[in-house]
Amino acid sequence: MTAPNEPLETVTLELSDPRPDEVLVRLAATGICASDAHTHTGRIPSPSPCVLGHEGAGVVERVGANVTHVGVGDHVALSWVPSCGVCRHCVSGRPVLCTAAAPALLAGTLLDGTVRLHRDGRPVSHYSFLSTFATHAVVPAASAVRIGRDVPLAVASLVGCGILTGYGAVVNKAKVTPGSSVLVFGAGGVGLSAVMAARVSGAGQIIVVDPVESKLEEATVFGATAGLVPSDDLVSRIRDLSGGGVDYAIDAAGGEGILGQAFAATIPGGTIVCVGMPDVDARPSLPGPELVRDEKIVTGSLYGSSRPSLDIPSILRQYAAGVLPLDRMITQAYDLDRIDHAFADMRAGKLKRGVVVFDEQLAGLPAPDPVVTLAA
Ligand SMILES: [Zn+2]
Ligand SMILES: [Zn+2]
Repeated sequence: MTAPNEPLETVTLELSDPRPDEVLVRLAATGICASDAHTHTGRIPSPSPCVLGHEGAGVVERVGANVTHVGVGDHVALSWVPSCGVCRHCVSGRPVLCTAAAPALLAGTLLDGTVRLHRDGRPVSHYSFLSTFATHAVVPAASAVRIGRDVPLAVASLVGCGILTGYGAVVNKAKVTPGSSVLVFGAGGVGLSAVMAARVSGAGQIIVVDPVESKLEEATVFGATAGLVPSDDLVSRIRDLSGGGVDYAIDAAGGEGILGQAFAATIPGGTIVCVGMPDVDARPSLPGPELVRDEKIVTGSLYGSSRPSLDIPSILRQYAAGVLPLDRMITQAYDLDRIDHAFADMRAGKLKRGVVVFDEQLAGLPAPDPVVTLAA
């Protein structure tokens, strides 16, 4: 990405060797996330020029001198929160809040404040430490999570952002219990991951809200028991369906007014987890007396409130065991030089997840026909 809203370019860049605490990865596949598109439009500010892409999986090609937890040839899924392991948040088991990672992420560098990417000698920014829309990436060692070789890397490529975000909001933050009722706003990649997680958590009822009817139908494949299109009487319909209100509400959309609906549709003592990123100037309001009287919990969840090095392999083991149908998230594969089409398809709501495939065999997906895209 040369600048926001400029056409994406496929070019050859110089990639420096990994430093002592870094890893060189050859990407097999990368998922395309809404955050990439939001960065391209400028809604999410990020330094440019940069190489976008922040969910990917591949094979380790080289490791820095200090790296011991992965070796050459290992399969890895990438995490965009390379936690330091020593700050108070890391030590207390909340590595996604790591204070060391956040400043470098916003600056578009690796953890030491410098970049490994250059174009004709001029620096090019990293995106979320990973820059996976590329055949190769140098990433912080802590971003490389070793995974089993039995998982197709196209599936593994999705786990490092959308899937972990939705799954973790349900399992790590809401801590959904068997037999409970769960409401999910948004049936995109994150919402569907929340639905899958609610199902494996044993939820008895999973209600999904999305304006697109076809997405509601797809959500049933992942475990939704009911689907609703937004309407003026949405809250009363949810209350009717759930016998008075749901136990948990997950806002995977982040749109205006959704938090208020989620709050109203949740029973006293219930939990509302905000996952979808609202606009920067959003200031949602809640009914004060009910906040006190009903003891509802309203909380955010970043990156699935996860411990990526534990949760990513766990999610992939659940895929391998046939419990989480992660491969059904993939709608379409693209060549890297057709990524503009992938962005167009995503904006048009045609994708659960699109993936760029670099290595057909390791990705476990056939290489896409370069002519056929959903946008065509
Ligand atoms: Zn993402
Ligand atoms: Zn830390």
